[in-house]
Amino acid sequence: MTDVAYVALGSNLGNRERALDRARTAIAAIRDTVITAETPIEETEPIGPQPQGRYLNQMIAVTTGLPPHTLLAALHRIERAAGRARASRWGPRTLDLDIVMIEGQNISDDSLNVPHPELNNRDFWQRQLALLRGSVDG
Ligand code: ATP
Ligand code: CA
Ligand code: CA
Repeated sequence: MTDVAYVALGSNLGNRERALDRARTAIAAIRDTVITAETPIEETEPIGPQPQGRYLNQMIAVTTGLPPHTLLAALHRIERAAGRARASRWGPRTLDLDIVMIEGQNISDDSLNVPHPELNNRDFWQRQLALLRGSVDG
């Protein structure tokens, strides 16, 4: 089984451009996983209560033979390798990788919600997703 998944990359600490660069390289190296498309990188205002720097954000499309929770675990390993300390939710981080959507999948359990519940609240995710899915009216 091959899934088409959309992964959001974000960084607002350190060398943000390089963090996204390395993240793409690491994702391309996940087994049975291929990056098929990527959006331009855009800068967004941070979400959350504490003052913090602006984010660089990007979304990529991947095909993967991995089950969703295995893909999530691989993404978490990449976050940790990027030096991410899991401090507060929505706090500043060197790298954040979220699974925004997986074509044809609805998942809702303790560790994984797909589509990502914040998709409806994040205009830039909706725009990036529409771009990757080839829509012009997103
Ligand atoms: P947000 O999810 O609102 O963007 P966040 O990215 O700051 O906030 P994290 O601290 O990175 O949140 O993640 C918290 C937990 O969310 C993760 O440990 C993971 O198990 C869970 N999670 C649930 N659904 C997803 C998903 N679709 N993609 C990534 N993580 C998810
Ligand atoms: Ca996030
Ligand atoms: Ca996250």
